[in-house]
Amino acid sequence: MKDKYDVVVVGAGPAGSYAAATAASQCDVLLIEKRQEIGDPVRCAEGVSKGALSKFLQPQKEWIANKVTGARIFAPDGTLLEVSEELAGPEVGYVLERKIFDRDLAKRAAKAGADVTVRTRAVGVIKEDGFVRGVKVRHLGEPLEIRASVVIAADGVESQLARWAGINTTLRPSDLESCAQYLMTNADIKEDYCDFYLGSESPGGYAWAFPKGPQEGNIGMGVLASKLAGKHSIDYLNAFVERHFPDAQPVELHLGGVPVSKPVRKTVDDGLMLVGDAAHHVDPITGGGIINALEGGRLAGEVAVQAVRAQDASLKVLKHYEEGWRASFGKKLERNYKIKDIFVNLSDAELNKLIRSIEGLPLEEMSVAGIVKRLISSNPRLLVGLRHLF
Ligand SMILES: Cc1cc2nc3c(=O)[nH]c(=O)nc-3n(C[C@H](O)[C@H](O)[C@H](O)COP(=O)(O)OP(=O)(O)OC[C@H]3O[C@@H](n4cnc5c(N)ncnc54)[C@H](O)[C@@H]3O)c2cc1C
Repeated sequence: MKDKYDVVVVGAGPAGSYAAATAASQCDVLLIEKRQEIGDPVRCAEGVSKGALSKFLQPQKEWIANKVTGARIFAPDGTLLEVSEELAGPEVGYVLERKIFDRDLAKRAAKAGADVTVRTRAVGVIKEDGFVRGVKVRHLGEPLEIRASVVIAADGVESQLARWAGINTTLRPSDLESCAQYLMTNADIKEDYCDFYLGSESPGGYAWAFPKGPQEGNIGMGVLASKLAGKHSIDYLNAFVERHFPDAQPVELHLGGVPVSKPVRKTVDDGLMLVGDAAHHVDPITGGGIINALEGGRLAGEVAVQAVRAQDASLKVLKHYEEGWRASFGKKLERNYKIKDIFVNLSDAELNKLIRSIEGLPLEEMSVAGIVKRLISSNPRLLVGLRHLF
């Protein structure tokens, strides 16, 4: 590790590793990770769209725990909406092995020429004349300063880098899902479907069961922090598991937050870009963030190269990153935020009515937008506030 780089990326999740790999073929890049093992612990249900992932990476069999051929959505009364393989088309998904996936992405960055370091925690930014000029780190406990032309904050939902640089990333409780997830064995889980459970068992969120193998899978739940009612998400998850998977036994437990907000208003500053969860680039309806993390990472890596070449990492150049992600997925996140705000306040009776209204109807596509469009056309009065969005 040197004390000066063109680009320093903080956080070796999908966003950081993809940004580092993109920039490293053309500039001098350092990727730092605070944990001692990249990819572990896994704070993710590991579901991803096959088609979307393939736009960024050639899927490797080691990353894929399971291939699913459809999804099932359960209303609170058990009414089932099944999206089968023929309807799902190319959007059927993978359940990943993120421990291997994240590690391989960091290896990709290293192969492209980046220096990668673990047990290296950013503890502050170097800021001079309003410009971010590098990061202060603790590497195996030792304090160091690393200067850089561009710093990419890929430090996840709890991003402190942005705050140290003066960008407000605070989440309101109504914009944060508090999640708990078990990796469970001996689970009576459908092996080729991802299951979603709606309703007051998981207030303001949903529960999921994503199969990873025979009788094994990620069983978890997100509860909107504003609806926890004095309990923890694990309490809601334990009740859910007892009811739906009484024989399942946990082998791992993970707790974590998912931003279900609008994207951070300002994701660039002089010398700094925010990517992935640090920029709140998560779909507010599904809580999925892997694909946007890859796309944001790619865009940030490309703009970092432009800035280094131009010897200008001011807002004037870095704003191309912000323009890029807004053009790519920004509108979808803003739209889905409005949809989420209505859905989190629906009662069990209303959710039952919605799912029943489209039960058995053909869905043109498996995407969230496809399902919501169908719900709106079948329930114009209940979802009156959403009609203008499509
Ligand atoms: C329970 C749960 C289930 C989810 N399920 C899905 C799903 O099924 N599908 C999906 O698409 N998305 C899912 N998500 C969201 C998904 O995990 C994230 O959107 C994705 O990991 C974002 O990638 P990232 O690189 O931005 O951040 P992260 O993957 O969080 O990576 C950030 C990295 O930065 C490191 N870091 C943090 N601070 C510092 C520091 N100061 N110094 C150095 N390193 C630091 C962290 O250790 C971490 O490795 C889920 C999230 C949760 C919590």
